[in-house]
Amino acid sequence: MLLITCPYCEESRPELEFHYEGEAHIARPLNPTTVSDEEWAEFLYVRSNSRGPHRERWRHLHGCGRFFNAIRDTRTDKFIITYRQGEFPEHEIVEETPK
Ligand SMILES: [Zn+2]
Repeated sequence: MLLITCPYCEESRPELEFHYEGEAHIARPLNPTTVSDEEWAEFLYVRSNSRGPHRERWRHLHGCGRFFNAIRDTRTDKFIITYRQGEFPEHEIVEETPK
């Protein structure tokens, strides 16, 4: 069973308590009315879909209910680190291009 550590509860809990919420650190344009259609489409739909360490947003849905971020290796499904909203721990992200 995959265990995920919630940085707020500070406990490792079963994956079933959590929900994946997409790629982390996607910034909404400050003034959406001034961006082009292409820029808006990129904000809405384009994600890195990287292979290897990946910054993700998760929610402890059946626990404290809070959102947090994680770096997970998509090749092994192992969580490298989880961290609270507003934090940005340094970690080398080396993206691999699928062959
Ligand atoms: Zn929690």
